[in-house]
Amino acid sequence: MASQNRELHVFLFPFMAQGHMIPVSDMAKLFAAQGVKTTIITNTLNAPTFSKATRSRKTNSGGCGIEIEIKTIKFPSQEAGLPEGCENLDSLPTPELASNFFKATGLLQAPLEQLLLEDQPTCLVADMFFPWATDAAAKFGIPRLVFHGTSFFALAASDCLRRYEPFKNTSSDSEPFVIPNLPGEIKMTRAQVSDLLKDNTENDLIRLLKQSREAEVRSYGIVVNSFYELEPVYADYYRKVLGKKAWHIGPLSLCNRDNEEKAYRGKEASIDEHECLKWLDSKKPNSVIYVCFGSMVKFNNSQLKDIAFGLEASGLEFIWVVRKGKDDDEVGKEDWLPEGFEERMEGKGLIIRGWAPQVLILDHGAVGGFVTHCGWNSTLEGIAAGLPMVTWPVSADQFYNEKLVTQVLKIGVGVGAQKWVRLVAESVKKEAIEKAVTQIMVGEEAEEMRSRARVLAEQARRAIAKGGSSHSDLNALIEGLSSQS
Ligand code: UDP
Repeated sequence: MASQNRELHVFLFPFMAQGHMIPVSDMAKLFAAQGVKTTIITNTLNAPTFSKATRSRKTNSGGCGIEIEIKTIKFPSQEAGLPEGCENLDSLPTPELASNFFKATGLLQAPLEQLLLEDQPTCLVADMFFPWATDAAAKFGIPRLVFHGTSFFALAASDCLRRYEPFKNTSSDSEPFVIPNLPGEIKMTRAQVSDLLKDNTENDLIRLLKQSREAEVRSYGIVVNSFYELEPVYADYYRKVLGKKAWHIGPLSLCNRDNEEKAYRGKEASIDEHECLKWLDSKKPNSVIYVCFGSMVKFNNSQLKDIAFGLEASGLEFIWVVRKGKDDDEVGKEDWLPEGFEERMEGKGLIIRGWAPQVLILDHGAVGGFVTHCGWNSTLEGIAAGLPMVTWPVSADQFYNEKLVTQVLKIGVGVGAQKWVRLVAESVKKEAIEKAVTQIMVGEEAEEMRSRARVLAEQARRAIAKGGSSHSDLNALIEGLSSQS
């Protein structure tokens, strides 16, 4: 198989944010392992991240000897009114600059076309935030695939909400409604629906998303970081009811097999991986809860204190990742932690300030539960590790992912987040945090959720193995592309 694929050349063009770049790094490894020549297109500042993430595949260790190439284009920060060096969504100085960031990415069509002209790849997998990539690829007769970075469930649910607007018929923000036409009687509230769906006024982002949907119709199809057994009803709904072409090829994170690969995803971890593993090795199986909210969500100091109090009151052992921005604290002063917290938690709780080796931690046998903001990558990594979850969605597609975890898969409990907000989360009280973490870690209900999660983890492993559903879909995609070239 691998040698037959050598004439194929896939261009991968991810959006410049961790939640999009990380799965695309993994996707590159996946294509390369099938013998497909793979090139990642990115901007200069993000290039080292990809070279590091894929370095172990530069030799023969991927089993195929195919290198993953990285090609760079200049990111037009200045042209779009962004500060110099602001080349990743997670480095935006203020959320208001997000529209400048999208403006900058909108200027990347010409440099992308130059690379397409030079290399003439077989296909282009480009992020959903680059709607113009479909036309760019079409100029050279190259099929374009879209990568959303979310679940079939979220794609189907958001489609139903957009079509039927059930949130317009509720009497209050907190009155639950059932998502019309979506299988499973899924409930949510108006407050949990994205502003991007509820807003009647057009803005740049709403326009971009509309263009993205239109471009998708003219594309070759979409690639989904998911596996069929996880959400068969919604994968079928997406393909059969909505009539879209999709290939599921995940969980992508499972292509990282050794500790070195698991430890470096997106950024250099702020803790030495060996130190982290040593700490976990000293703990009993399933005794530690891992708390992390991805690369974008921000909490204020009083919320962080409530998390600390909630964790302490639960009596559980924990690893808590706190992503504090450079300017959030005066140097040396950490008034987001309760007085004496770290001393009291010595040996019991580990705080990682900055970036954690998340997959390495989730896969450790001592970890028994995950408090997550329900970013799709984190959610799927939690599922692949067989963990029950406390769901704490904030924005983007996170409320949909919460509903999948709590209402469909029944492997988690909600902390009680009520409102979709942009990045800075609403507050949740320490009592609710204590209750939710205890619920997924201790007692019969926790054991039931854990055993369901374990079954899914096993199915995930089988899906990516030879003959599994994701492996077969990847091969079907490659074969389809080969017959086009
Ligand atoms: N991640 C990590 N270390 C951290 C925080 C996040 O490795 O300290 C990774 C995580 O494993 C996931 C990605 O960053 O792959 C975050 O993506 P997700 O979709 O969960 O959330 P987003 O950051 O897009 O909100």
